[in-house]
Amino acid sequence: MSRDDLLFVSRSEWGARESREIHHMDKPVSLVFIHHTNMKSCMTLEEGCEEMRVIQNFHMDDRGWDDVGYNFLVSEGGHVFIGRDWTRVGAHTYGFNRVAIAISVMGNFTERPPSERTLQVVQNVINSGVAQGKITPDYKVYGHRDVRETDCPGDKLYAVIKAWEHAGQEPPEKPAA
Ligand SMILES: [Zn+2]
Repeated sequence: MSRDDLLFVSRSEWGARESREIHHMDKPVSLVFIHHTNMKSCMTLEEGCEEMRVIQNFHMDDRGWDDVGYNFLVSEGGHVFIGRDWTRVGAHTYGFNRVAIAISVMGNFTERPPSERTLQVVQNVINSGVAQGKITPDYKVYGHRDVRETDCPGDKLYAVIKAWEHAGQEPPEKPAA
């Protein structure tokens, strides 16, 4: 699978509501955080779009955020749903939202990892960001739990990303407020 195989699903395709406030990051990021949604796993495009609307409603109405929190969400059907996209500041990793992008895998990965294909899609998204100059080539990947007390992104997904070439070993330094 090459990066050309990425199946991006635009906000209008998944039926996104309009964002509230929008803030952009002005520099390429050197941190990528991996999350899981801890909600449904989706295979078909239709299921994924429906789940995206559920997640966006949850983030906007219950959490009170401006939009779905993550920059991208990847389903086990291999779709890449556009959340805040490459340059918008998200609501995903407390203290790091202005200097990182977040990719969330749809599902719960405590008992099992995502499929190989899904993991490849996540890496392809990151590679695409590097190729487009949105992520620095020397970037580090972390799991949400590396900087916050949380189970996210699930034990099994966390174990996988810690073995990736770009996995950060030392915890990342918190950016100045
Ligand atoms: Zn998380």
